[in-house]
Amino acid sequence: MMYTKEMQVGKKKRRKKHKPSIIQKKDGRCYLCMLLDEDNGVKKTQEHHIFGGANRDHSEETGLKVYLCLEHHTAGKLAVHRCKDTRRLLEQIAQREFEEDHTREEFMEIFGKNYLND
Ligand SMILES: [Zn+2]
Ligand SMILES: [Zn+2]
Repeated sequence: MMYTKEMQVGKKKRRKKHKPSIIQKKDGRCYLCMLLDEDNGVKKTQEHHIFGGANRDHSEETGLKVYLCLEHHTAGKLAVHRCKDTRRLLEQIAQREFEEDHTREEFMEIFGKNYLND
């Protein structure tokens, strides 16, 4: 997570709409622990926006985020911020989830890319 205390100081709190994740409910579990390790344990998790960079705000607005333990977020070998395959896996899951309620055209219009092969 790039947000530091310093960045928030001196800046008025922006009242941005925070959408809950449409992929996972926030209950202290790590999405990737459950998916990859069948580990349903509660641990310290961090919010991860599945599409980053210029699309980070779009991830927020569409609720395409998951909650990850530190290991799966940034620290471990398979962490989404370190491993291309993990990142792609989550991107595909997110696009699929989005397309439950939207068309592929809408997805590509927002995110500029298609991550699915089907
Ligand atoms: Zn995890
Ligand atoms: Zn992240």
